[in-house]
Amino acid sequence: MRNLLRINQPFLGKEEIEAVAEVLRDGVLTDKSGSGPRVLQFERDFARYVGARYAVAVNSGTAALHSALMASEIGRGDEVLLPSFTFSATAGSVMMTGAKPVFVDIDPKTYCLRVDSVEGKVSSRTTVIMPVHLYGLPADMGRIRELARKHNLVIIEDAAQALGAEYQDKKIGAIGDATCFSFYGVKNITTGEGGMVTTNDHELAEKLRSIRVHGEDRPYWVTRLGHNYRMSEIAASIGIVQLKKLPSFLEKRRKNSSYLSKRLSDSKKLDLPAEPEGRKHSWHLYTVRMKGANAGKRNKVVEKLRAKNIGASVYYETPVHLLPLYRKMGNLYKGDLLETERAARQVFSLPIHPMVGQDDLDELSSVLEKILIRQ
Ligand SMILES: *Cc1c(COP(=O)(O)O)cnc(C)c1O
Repeated sequence: MRNLLRINQPFLGKEEIEAVAEVLRDGVLTDKSGSGPRVLQFERDFARYVGARYAVAVNSGTAALHSALMASEIGRGDEVLLPSFTFSATAGSVMMTGAKPVFVDIDPKTYCLRVDSVEGKVSSRTTVIMPVHLYGLPADMGRIRELARKHNLVIIEDAAQALGAEYQDKKIGAIGDATCFSFYGVKNITTGEGGMVTTNDHELAEKLRSIRVHGEDRPYWVTRLGHNYRMSEIAASIGIVQLKKLPSFLEKRRKNSSYLSKRLSDSKKLDLPAEPEGRKHSWHLYTVRMKGANAGKRNKVVEKLRAKNIGASVYYETPVHLLPLYRKMGNLYKGDLLETERAARQVFSLPIHPMVGQDDLDELSSVLEKILIRQ
């Protein structure tokens, strides 16, 4: 039987090993302001790559989300609009500020926040909207910006999966008030653990830098509540190298995705991922959906793929509003976000990361086709 084909895995080479060894030889592993030489370089390179004025490195994607929310000065009494069809950290970061997450439904084709489902949920307490570019496909930023302007909302994007994605020829990271990225082990690039916030707002960038080091404005001078969200020099040194490789990673992901879409295009039982006009996918995940009558077979199909060592996975089996913590808050119940709940029952993702080869894709497609025929 074949080796396990993982849903995602880091692509690391001797350049990363050498970069880390150099930090260890230099002996400066971190900097008390959070702005050591490697962190500064990673931030500069990153800002240039996405086309944003500022980039602030932190030690996880969750830290990026939390510090962006803290910098927008929300707290108890505020409400934040966000999709429920996401990784729990999007909502968790809102909870950590004391604000209330208000979940909205998704568009069934793009799996991203659906702007129509927001209107009835905006109240006088709503201060922030958090689009999630799920699987790496940008949300409908044009309409989200209109809505934000109309209701005076801050836009904080969860782009943990969307590094390299574009909306109308602009990179994700250069559009909203603040955009949050993750460099967790299996994201499009990794630093082990790590994150970044990009913004074009000077004042916001300064606040983020302060929040990253306990709310200090200068050493030991605390003027606001902060955290230890510093990125280490080791992590930044890996990030610098990974960012250089990102264009080739993205190209491979795109190539693998279009090959899979060609191979699977005849399947009457699957909906394939969309890339609407004006949006460029980062192809973090290649996510298909079991159609109508076959939807109930999703888990069986995933199990059978796994039995053949093909690491198909479900993101996300339980929408956030139905997780125990959020259910307890009594905001929403089963049936309240129909498209979200439907997608959670029907989707699964297939491996397309840069280490997946043509043979893997051929095998994966024929195994999947056989499984689907027998359903
Ligand atoms: C990975 C991820 C996060 C969290 O990033 P970490 O670096 O793991 O903290 C947040 N939101 C989404 C959508 C993610 O995929």
